[in-house]
Amino acid sequence: MSAVYRLGGEGCSYFQQGRCTRTFNRDEQDQARCQLLDARRKMGVKTLDRLERLKRLADEDDREVARRHVINQNIKAISALTCPGFVASGGDGSLCLHQHLIYCLMLLPGCQGRCDYYLRRRDHRDQEGRAG
Ligand code: SF4
Ligand code: SF4
Repeated sequence: MSAVYRLGGEGCSYFQQGRCTRTFNRDEQDQARCQLLDARRKMGVKTLDRLERLKRLADEDDREVARRHVINQNIKAISALTCPGFVASGGDGSLCLHQHLIYCLMLLPGCQGRCDYYLRRRDHRDQEGRAG
């Protein structure tokens, strides 16, 4: 009896670098969030909060000096954030190759081949159409 092989999932809309990005499970989604992106976002929220509080300063010059200080501190703090799995994706080097939207591909399950949820990508459909 011959073995049955599952077709690859490369042409699926959910397929990204060998991972399956289709997950509707809230816990899985939370666990797969990019930690670096989350840390940067939290830092940004803190900075906005500090900038908001500076509006209480009556003197305009003091406000400007404090505003620059807070922004510089924010840039330094954000630049110091790291992730052990970070791989620069090119450009200005701030984006990680493994990042997909708000998720880390390394934390998503691998595609096990074409499954019931396979959703053919448009570009793949065009290629298949031309080949056929
Ligand atoms: S490896 Fe990249 S995408 Fe994954 S958590 Fe780290 S920075 Fe985010
Ligand atoms: S074929 Fe199935 S497992 Fe593979 S990426 Fe698509 S939905 Fe995910």
